[in-house]
Amino acid sequence: MIVMKFGGTSVQDAKAIDCAAAIVRKRLHERPVVVVSALAKITDQLLAMAAAASAGNREKALELSRAARERHYNTASDLLGTHAFEQIAPELEADFNGLDELLRGVVAVGELTLRTTDSIAGFGERVSSKIAAAAFSQRGIESAHVDSRRCVVTDETFGKAVPHFEDTDARLSEVIRPLLDRGRVPVMGGFIGATRDGISTTLGRGGSDFSAAIVGAGLNATRIEIWTDVDGMMTTDPNLCRQARRIKTISFEEAAELAYFGAKVLHPATLLPAIRKNIPVLILNSRNAGCEGTRITASSPKSRNVFMAIAAKKRITVIDVVATRMLMAHGFLKSIFDVFAYHRCPVDMVSTSEVSVSVTVDSNESIAAIAADLAKLADVKYEGRKAIVCLVGENIRSTPGIAAKVFGAIGDVNIRMISQGASEINISFVIDESDVPIVVSRLHDVFFSEVDPEVFA
Ligand code: ADP
Ligand code: ASP
Ligand code: MG
Repeated sequence: MIVMKFGGTSVQDAKAIDCAAAIVRKRLHERPVVVVSALAKITDQLLAMAAAASAGNREKALELSRAARERHYNTASDLLGTHAFEQIAPELEADFNGLDELLRGVVAVGELTLRTTDSIAGFGERVSSKIAAAAFSQRGIESAHVDSRRCVVTDETFGKAVPHFEDTDARLSEVIRPLLDRGRVPVMGGFIGATRDGISTTLGRGGSDFSAAIVGAGLNATRIEIWTDVDGMMTTDPNLCRQARRIKTISFEEAAELAYFGAKVLHPATLLPAIRKNIPVLILNSRNAGCEGTRITASSPKSRNVFMAIAAKKRITVIDVVATRMLMAHGFLKSIFDVFAYHRCPVDMVSTSEVSVSVTVDSNESIAAIAADLAKLADVKYEGRKAIVCLVGENIRSTPGIAAKVFGAIGDVNIRMISQGASEINISFVIDESDVPIVVSRLHDVFFSEVDPEVFA
């Protein structure tokens, strides 16, 4: 069997879902399980509803919900026609009434917990999957809607829940296998799961890719397909640099590094389950289904280019910790990292000198509290609006003098931190967020004006 995941733009309206159905139909002989995102932008809108409700703005929350309801009804009725739409309309209506009730509840208690946020945020995938399943069935694809919360079992880290793989694999076998055996196409929402007690959770923004991989690994898929709005994984974000080229094939390790450092086309956790079971992951364009996309596998042909791609991760804060009164005594680094661990804040990049440590973290609301705790140990400064630019490629290992070439290409832009990771397949550095476009385009000009035709399109 295979998994086919369609992202937000690939299910954004009736035309897109119709197109997804046509793509699925061509793969029926491979026994697909389909994972869908919410309709494009819906998750943002749900979070805006939650925020309005928690701020006591009942009208705004309900108005946003009404607009989302209308968009889903229109999409479903365009796809299904009056008769079939009437069959699923009561269920959609009950779902949206439930959402409104939740929003009114938030207004009434004046408090929005992470748990409630997850119930609201995951609503988009709950309804998009029902609409897609109905549309597929109506187009002659025998499909079955599956509520992902029955299959994806997670811990209680609301907003970024971690799957319990053993439980999830067992549930997937129990729920999905029999459907496949009966020739059905299971259609499930990405991004969502539930705790062992059945409380709704989400896997973190962009998490539908991760869902696809969880399902693929759980069911030993032969392939996981991620259908999106670009031709594949590119040498850099095509929306940032128009010269971006398609990568035909890339290793798990390189793709994971790129995803982690900001290549939004793939959620950073996606490759973990795929690597565990050695399942190839393909990135494909639902608007250009004939394009062969990007193939991510355990090994890929050696490229003649040093780098495979450039990623940029924005909204980074740099925190500098300076030990004034003493050189870094033993245990000093540990006490610093204990503070980050206590606040459950992952650290990306670290650089140290004899008396100071600089780290980067994703900008988040705990930073002031982290800085206050660090200030008990040393002098602390922090600065947001930074970005990490990361160049990835396995050839870094065997190319001397590459750092000089990278920093030569960047020219006069101010660099705040530099790191060449232990994995030896990335060179990353921190700059001001506003310098990202110029830096990426200068690097792309130098490193990708000529590309190895075996590896890049
Ligand atoms: P989906 O809704 O299908 O999950 P996303 O918006 O999450 O789609 O991811 C696709 C987007 O990722 C592209 O439109 C592109 O702007 C962005 N992107 C960032 N880096 C890259 C890259 N290296 N290659 C391709 N796309 C990238
Ligand atoms: N809809 C979710 C989001 O926008 C998950 C996803 O699309 O991957 O973050
Ligand atoms: Mg995505």
